[in-house]
Amino acid sequence: MTETGPIVIIGGGHAAAQLCAGLQEAGQGARVHLVCEEPELPYQRPPLSKTFLKSEQESLQAHRAEAWYAQAGITLHQADPAVAIDRAGKTVQLRSGASLPYDQLVLATGARPRRLPKVPDALDNVALLRSAADALRLRAQLQAASSLTVLGGGFIGLEIAATARALGKAVTVLESAPRLLARSVSAELAEHVLQTHRASGIDLRLGASTEGFEHDGQHLVALTVDGQRQTVDLLVMGIGAAPDIALAQAAGLMCDNGIVVDGQMRTSDPAILAVGDCANFPEAGSGRRLRLESVQNANDQARCAVATLLGREAPYRALPWFWSEQASLRLQMAGLMPAAADSTRHRRPGATAASFSILHYVGETLTCVESVNAPMDHIMSRKLLEAGISPAPALACDAGVPLKNHLPPA
Ligand code: NAP
Repeated sequence: MTETGPIVIIGGGHAAAQLCAGLQEAGQGARVHLVCEEPELPYQRPPLSKTFLKSEQESLQAHRAEAWYAQAGITLHQADPAVAIDRAGKTVQLRSGASLPYDQLVLATGARPRRLPKVPDALDNVALLRSAADALRLRAQLQAASSLTVLGGGFIGLEIAATARALGKAVTVLESAPRLLARSVSAELAEHVLQTHRASGIDLRLGASTEGFEHDGQHLVALTVDGQRQTVDLLVMGIGAAPDIALAQAAGLMCDNGIVVDGQMRTSDPAILAVGDCANFPEAGSGRRLRLESVQNANDQARCAVATLLGREAPYRALPWFWSEQASLRLQMAGLMPAAADSTRHRRPGATAASFSILHYVGETLTCVESVNAPMDHIMSRKLLEAGISPAPALACDAGVPLKNHLPPA
């Protein structure tokens, strides 16, 4: 290890929590300052669109208690966001006026939900979901509403729609694209998701054109969907997220759909690293540039950044994987979806009628596996993909040989 001075981490999400855990494990906690915009300690985000919305009894799940940070020697700066980085002086300015010196700085600033310019920010029945504060507000709004309109049929929109439906609300989802989840799952899986949500009573419309947001003071009254006026009780916008690069850009770091990093998570300034939703990184092997918004990516890039901070650099090569829970659907994806034109798909039946996996091959090579209510397939797929093993579709899919049988004995 060459550096012994302070390590400042900006961000309070999954990546920041994992950075703290990795540095504590390496006995380096006393060097760490964690700078969070939110007042809460870093917490688990996945429950916010599911169980947390269902009941007031549900509380936030902190990654670690306050006492853990104290014991690790980590200094917390909560509700005090960074407002500027002085790269020449190697300091970070906080909103409170404090100035933190750093030897090494990690940006784990995440992504911010997209908004529609035509919908004013402060309407009392329009919600976004990213933070604990957003989730608390949405939970109260949902309790009072009898119906919910969701703009966007991505992961966040569909998870919230399924939760609201389970609470007995009338739910409409308006997706502008001709299919669901176009950026993350195959057309076949998207069709299964569509049919499952429609069967649960959700009015799910594809190719929906939404305009004419009519408001009365602070309240959204109606919108126009495909030319027809539709009244609104509560509207949630789940129309994507943009990487939070404001600080990095102002500091003159190279940015291009995120903060550009190398395979060790270093930005264009070697004293500054970036990880998670905000980082644009090179894919191992291909070198193509990716930016992924997922818990796995945040955690694994944080692990890679800890190694870099400690002078044990190793290139980032973690397998991407995602999951989403939507009512009766447990969706799990291992690997990234290949372009449809370049690939072949094989369906592998699961243990029940409601469970199956889709294996995607480019030539003879397995590149991605989508599983629906088939968690064992997902776990074994990750092992196969990590090991570079491609079972023949005739065995894995047609003959239904368990995926674990294609792995070498442990
Ligand atoms: P998303 O996955 O990008 O989905 C947004 C969807 O809304 C896209 O299909 C998009 O279509 C559509 N859309 C865009 N503008 C629209 C409009 N004006 N009207 C109707 N539809 C519109 O993003 P998200 O669901 O909002 O999620 C936000 C973030 O949270 C992402 O980082 C996501 O990965 C993360 N998240 C992840 C999980 C999970 O992994 N389980 C769960 C929740 C949230 P186009 O693609 O054509 O723009």
